[in-house]
Amino acid sequence: MERQVWFNNESDIVYFGDNACVASIHEVSVIQKGKEIRSIAFNNSRQTVMCCDLDNDGGFGLGRDGGSTLFQAIHGFDDDLCSLQEFPGFTGLKNIYVMVKSDYYPVMAGDVTQWVGMRPAVHDGLTAGQIKFRKDAYTGLEKQIADIDILGALPGTGEIKKWVGDMKPKFHFMSFCPHPFGVDNRSYDALPIEANQVNKLTRNRFAFLNGLRKKFGCEITVAQRGNGHIQREIGFFGLEKDIVKAKAAIIEKLVSFEIMHTPMIKC
Ligand SMILES: [Zn+2]
Repeated sequence: MERQVWFNNESDIVYFGDNACVASIHEVSVIQKGKEIRSIAFNNSRQTVMCCDLDNDGGFGLGRDGGSTLFQAIHGFDDDLCSLQEFPGFTGLKNIYVMVKSDYYPVMAGDVTQWVGMRPAVHDGLTAGQIKFRKDAYTGLEKQIADIDILGALPGTGEIKKWVGDMKPKFHFMSFCPHPFGVDNRSYDALPIEANQVNKLTRNRFAFLNGLRKKFGCEITVAQRGNGHIQREIGFFGLEKDIVKAKAAIIEKLVSFEIMHTPMIKC
């Protein structure tokens, strides 16, 4: 059979990109059955779970009765819980990276080269759907991860209990960023702000942000507003200590704006 997945397990992360869903992730777990994949990544996007739930709805003999959540497909089910199709899950999984999209540095699957790195995500998502996917109190990824700790295993997968104690993979919420190289110790960072606040920073032809660029010596860019985005990112490139100061100045500016424009209550 032709090999369908190529990676170096010592260093690579298998990244499921924009069109990936629970079914494609399950598919790779079947192809890769019994062989290790140490690190996988997928997008912090509802698309990942909205496309299909692998429930045998149509009675076509696919999936399993009761379907599968994203984490269940990654973990796998006991054979006696799957009569139609096996759900082996991944073997030897150490790291699960949830990629929180950044407009500041968009990366598509297939575009990941040696110049692409990762940094811890600085926000929960740019659209309401992305934020919900991560933060929803009942179904969000953070809640599901917390439940594994509370229950000591991934619920609903039967007796195989692969994610117990040291066997549980580590979860990381990350964003792509340019890979730092050489001796350059400048780094990339971003600050999310409400989309409708951006004009407070950019009025008078970016006078305020240009002032910060000059004062702190770091590059500052404003991401375009994306479709359905309720948050927009301000991007930074510079020394970390300068970025920290520039971020603080932006937050201070927005707060002072808020105070200045809050209507006084007349008694
Ligand atoms: Zn699907």
